Amino acid sequence: MTSVSYISTRGGAPRLGFEDVLLAGLARDGGLYVPESWPALDAATIAGFAGRPFAEVAAEIIGRFSGEELPTRVLGEMAADAYATFGHAAVTPLVQLDAQTFVLELFHGPTLAFKDVAMQMLARLMDHVLEKRGQRVTIVGATSGDTGGAAIEAFRTSKRVDVVILFPDGRVSDVQRRMMTTPTETNVHAVAIDGTFDDCQALVKAMFNDHAFRDSVALAGVNSINWARIVAQVTYYFVAAVALGAPHRSVAFTVPTGNFGDIFAGYVAKQMGLPVADLVIASNENDILPRTLETGTYEMRDVVATSSPSMDIQISSNFERYLFEASGRDDAYVRNAFASLAQSRRFDTGRVAMGLSQEFSARAASEADVAQAIRHVAATSGYLMDPHTACAYVAASSVHKAGRGVPRVVLSTAHPAKFPDAMEAITGSRPGLPPRLAGLMSAPERFERLANDLATVERFVESRARAVREGQTAKGGA
Ligand SMILES: *Cc1c(COP(=O)(O)O)cnc(C)c1O
Repeated sequence: MTSVSYISTRGGAPRLGFEDVLLAGLARDGGLYVPESWPALDAATIAGFAGRPFAEVAAEIIGRFSGEELPTRVLGEMAADAYATFGHAAVTPLVQLDAQTFVLELFHGPTLAFKDVAMQMLARLMDHVLEKRGQRVTIVGATSGDTGGAAIEAFRTSKRVDVVILFPDGRVSDVQRRMMTTPTETNVHAVAIDGTFDDCQALVKAMFNDHAFRDSVALAGVNSINWARIVAQVTYYFVAAVALGAPHRSVAFTVPTGNFGDIFAGYVAKQMGLPVADLVIASNENDILPRTLETGTYEMRDVVATSSPSMDIQISSNFERYLFEASGRDDAYVRNAFASLAQSRRFDTGRVAMGLSQEFSARAASEADVAQAIRHVAATSGYLMDPHTACAYVAASSVHKAGRGVPRVVLSTAHPAKFPDAMEAITGSRPGLPPRLAGLMSAPERFERLANDLATVERFVESRARAVREGQTAKGGA
């Protein structure tokens, strides 16, 4: 096994190995890490995934990105442990809706959203590396609802990691908030910020760019910019496609998209050799990506609140990784694009535009489309989709680039019980939580309310970070 090196999309950060990228999150030049080259899997290897447990496939795929830094046996144990927290033996089962359409259920983890698939693995990877190095880190993350709960749930038993999650006050569902505010472990902290998700994300980015602060608390990231999360999500593209006949047959995927992390994992699977007929970007009324495909211009607008809040986003952070690839790994192109975005809230995708519309299809679903899709599918097949999944169903039904005979997989990113108010407004009844979450709605909550102000939030994080109290001086990402 060889080592795998990672480079920044902005060209100004040190080259790192997998373990350092895992702990660093955002690169020091403000860019995102990507592997120097894509590991390739041949058809026989892909075919060999058929019928194997999810955890084994996960260990094999993640191993291609960690190289010699993590022994295969250790990865296998971590994956087995991570996916034992799921409530379904298949981990991410496929459900057939009609002759051509399949739902890939990614919500059987402890917080009922697809974020658990990556986060459960990430927590174990981080604890392993920190234990080995005798270090602590402080995770600060922003959440539009699901990442926060998944992170707090995955790290609440960690001995080496303190977690502070910023969420937009009043803009997450009660179930989402309670998943963050009811765990009693003292190393996890939920903070309600007076602002939007993009404000929370801007605070996190600012903390990462404040190098003195970053080092003093040994900051680490778990947002979808963290490379290990993307890698962990690649697994289910392989598992689902192989179950439907890959590598002998190609498969189309439709992905409810916010930060572009999940769909980028599909793009990675394709780079590794999985025959993917089409990758469809599904959005809600926050349609920056469909607009970009149509006009060639990436242009931010104000966020509107929808029934699929985890996609109420105007900055799709991981899109930067795709721009880097599509521009022929041109870091100057990426720097210019993001300088323009910071200055005028827009940039022209320019020479990347053509590749973008060949690589992806895109469709935005209106609130009316979502409601109609949920009712239609419930009536015709008795299957209840959540609003995020419904955005993808709408997109899959209207985009036919992949052609007849190609199985269409709709990624289902959340359990309907995670959004009971939205579901009740659409269907007239509230879906019940699975029995294992019975105590959630009555457990006492604990959280902090803070202003949308960098200094205030940094002071709070410093007061909770054990890395500071023990005087550990971080070596940053190096
Ligand atoms: C996070 C999330 C998404 C969007 O995923 P990205 O990786 O940010 O594109 C979609 N649906 C649900 C339920 C989510 O939690």
